[in-house]
Amino acid sequence: MGNLTKTVFIFGDKKAEGNAEMKNLLGSKGANLAEMNLLGIPVPPGFTITTEMCKIYLEEGHDKLISIIKNEVTASIKFIEERTGTRFSDAENPCFVSVRSGSRASMPGMMDTILNLGINENIVEGLIKKTNNARFVWDSYRRFIQMYGSVVMNVRAEAGDFADPFEEILEKEKKQKCYQSDNDFNAEDLKNISKSFKQLVKKSTGKDFPNDPWEQLWGAVTAVFESWMNERAVYYRELNNLPQEWGTAVNVQAMVFGNMGQNSATGVAFTRDASTGEKTFNGEFLINAQGEDVVAGTRTPRQITTEGSRRWASLSGIGEDIRCRDFPSLEEMMPEIYQELAGCAQMLELNFKDMQDIEFTVQEGKLWILQTRNGKRTGAGMVKMAVDMLHENLLDEKTALLRVDPKRLDELLHPIFDQDEIIKACCIAQGLPASPGASSGRIVFFTEDAQVWSSKGENVILVRMETSPEDLKGMVAAQGILTARGGMTSHAAVVARGMGKCCIAGAESLKIDYKQRTIQTENLTLKEGDWISLDGSTGKIYKGKLKTSEGQLSVDFEKLMNLADQHARLKVRSNADTPMDVMTALRFGAKGIGLCRTEHMFFDDDKIMAMREMILADNEAGRRKALAKLLPMQRKDFEDIFRLMNGLPVNIRLLDPPLHEFVPHDEKIQKELADELGIPHEIIKKKIESLYEFNPMMGHRGCRLGTTYPEISEMQTAAILEAALHIKYEGIESLPEIMIPLTGTVEEMQIQKNIINQTAEKIFEQYDDRIPYLLGTMIEVPRAALIADKIAEHAEFFSFGTNDLTQMTYGYSRDDSGKFLPMYLEKSILKHDPFQVLDQQGVGQLITMAVQKGKAGRPNLKIGICGEHGGEPSSVEFCHNEGLNYVSCSPYRVPIARLAAAHAAINEENNRSITSRQNASKAICFENYHF
Ligand code: ADP
Ligand code: MG
Ligand code: MG
Repeated sequence: MGNLTKTVFIFGDKKAEGNAEMKNLLGSKGANLAEMNLLGIPVPPGFTITTEMCKIYLEEGHDKLISIIKNEVTASIKFIEERTGTRFSDAENPCFVSVRSGSRASMPGMMDTILNLGINENIVEGLIKKTNNARFVWDSYRRFIQMYGSVVMNVRAEAGDFADPFEEILEKEKKQKCYQSDNDFNAEDLKNISKSFKQLVKKSTGKDFPNDPWEQLWGAVTAVFESWMNERAVYYRELNNLPQEWGTAVNVQAMVFGNMGQNSATGVAFTRDASTGEKTFNGEFLINAQGEDVVAGTRTPRQITTEGSRRWASLSGIGEDIRCRDFPSLEEMMPEIYQELAGCAQMLELNFKDMQDIEFTVQEGKLWILQTRNGKRTGAGMVKMAVDMLHENLLDEKTALLRVDPKRLDELLHPIFDQDEIIKACCIAQGLPASPGASSGRIVFFTEDAQVWSSKGENVILVRMETSPEDLKGMVAAQGILTARGGMTSHAAVVARGMGKCCIAGAESLKIDYKQRTIQTENLTLKEGDWISLDGSTGKIYKGKLKTSEGQLSVDFEKLMNLADQHARLKVRSNADTPMDVMTALRFGAKGIGLCRTEHMFFDDDKIMAMREMILADNEAGRRKALAKLLPMQRKDFEDIFRLMNGLPVNIRLLDPPLHEFVPHDEKIQKELADELGIPHEIIKKKIESLYEFNPMMGHRGCRLGTTYPEISEMQTAAILEAALHIKYEGIESLPEIMIPLTGTVEEMQIQKNIINQTAEKIFEQYDDRIPYLLGTMIEVPRAALIADKIAEHAEFFSFGTNDLTQMTYGYSRDDSGKFLPMYLEKSILKHDPFQVLDQQGVGQLITMAVQKGKAGRPNLKIGICGEHGGEPSSVEFCHNEGLNYVSCSPYRVPIARLAAAHAAINEENNRSITSRQNASKAICFENYHF
């Protein structure tokens, strides 16, 4: 353990041993609790047991952990006792604590927390005398048994039963007494419920519920450490790429009670709108409740601000007078508390320079802040907040750019429901617009069904009363999430926004029946499997499947993208084969075409016939005749593209796929073809059979076609350069780059180069005019990477075709990898799918080598990448670090690549300055304040 012997860090009364910088050791909750104390914000006193202790517990077990932390924990409990003037385990004047999880990155609801610890029947009696509030005391006790019972003692629903057994007891009691809500329980009811809870624990675990507060404390601390490894937490980390070895800290903190009556409350507040990014303070609260009630979504909370409350009421169709009477805001009910809360929120945002998600509790008219963290947000929210905070001078440009996760830009480009469709559609209910997006799918009610259905390719909407952390997998599988209960800060809403998934919460008018698997509205019943559509931006739920259309790009999005381009060194191009693709690519800001695959053009009706004629011809003369028909058609395609690109570079790859892909294998179509070409069917059939290859991907394709049939390369070169000349006469410039595919030897490169250059000269002579063009090759056969210096002598540019390069480096056929890749990923034999995330260790070495050798062969060699990886952020960063000139990806990923390119440049700069700082001062040490 060395000098890391300090295992516990205390905080309270505006002092703290930790601070916000210490997230690795204290977890983000613990570090921020300390920081809030240093800022002078009212926080109940407590202490944090370090993440190091989580590792000790998981590796060396319970006894070892307790032996290490026992003395410090005991002393720290004394610290809490002194600050609160109470005594742990004392019946007259008891001290209660919460035991809370909290790792480096926030994992909402994934691990466990226990409230009201330190209570037993003896203490209940004492506390009733002290507070004169029997209802509150019994409510606290029953809550403690419920939480401790399920978290520490593992009381679970019996197989086949869906409901939480504790909640079932509550529901039963409520029904029996004809109560409307939990708030109607009186002290006597709650006492009986506590008794039933204890019986449930005994029946389900065989153990008595522990009465000794110290036993409760050690049980809770170890249970929180244990919860780091629970299934949903492990899965959440996998999903979000968080290291499994971090471990969680444990925070033990004096309880404050939001359930002491009508002047007590609990809630969650956001400094900005997590869904849209707008700068409006917002949040939700419940009167006379404890913290977990709001996030669990079992009770629908009220709005903090009056403005928010009015907006909520109008969505729910509630008039202003009823709203004022039944659903007043915190601002209206407790104006002073509201002001104090808004002040704390503002201070926290300024301090952390990011949107804050804040938990608070009001105990008998006094405000306490219990947590602050950088709030989860949607992709659109991310962009808006980053741009706004830049304008507010809260962030500098680089930090603002780093605030937006490139992968999340995807969400902004997603389609929305077609306006015409919405007008015709049947809106069956209205909920809260918890996370934007437009999604349609079939109704499922359970996580398992969502997974099974979606694995069969079905689009599903997960419909729940409320979601719990156990539903995470179902939420991932679903297209959208709909809940009948809970608010904008419920688990479902927070997690959906974090995933960028469409979500509508709290659609109260829906009656969900898990047993029948139906949703009832006033005049309609929907069954499992029926289609519904969710509009997460308005909260409207529609029957059936609605068509979607292209969304609008926001002004903030454009601003952010332009800023990204200013910081990036890599240029971003797009792969585009048709004018349609080209337009999309330009809309998303592509600075060129990095790959135009000519073969897709040949599949058009008019071209495929001439193409087939060429393939089926017996000799060169026959091929030339057919190619002459193709030439004008292909020239026109290039003219259209050059015109749109208006002087930006366009990289055109010569014919690449094996010829058999262009001919029909169906007997009937073969016969039609025979009729059209006037050749007997038998001959056509034979010729097609002769094209058969055992392994077409490694067969007669790429430049092997152009080498055996030079007339194909000739025709394509002519089409490209004639097109460029033609549009030159329209006054439009062009910058063609002619790319040879699948080069593996210098000789292939030489032969193709000669064909292209000679054809070019012939055309230039004909037109008595010239066009500048570049001639280069793909690097996608490993051998080409190995001899890149020799190839570069003949090539003016390289473009890494990382799809083929990955395929051939691993020896995985991309078309057959479905048989083993999923299992490899599941068992972590491979960390990522190498066809999505560039394998830097292996394939990356070939790239590094080819770049070095290529530049040795030709110092001004232009280098890019055009595989799928060109739009994947970690691969883009790799390309930046290797000094490539550009990446090229599919049109919809262009914005992702542009931002990733800026991140790569900024990260490089930041790392450089960190290294120089580290060299200046060798060691960084923690400073501990002592009270
Ligand atoms: P999570 O990480 O899942 O949000 P928390 O540790 O924040 O879990 O706790 C769950 C709920 O209990 C929160 O609403 C929190 O505000 C509340 N809570 C935690 N500690 C206390 C405390 N000492 N007094 C009152 N409420 C608390
Ligand atoms: Mg919390
Ligand atoms: Mg290829």
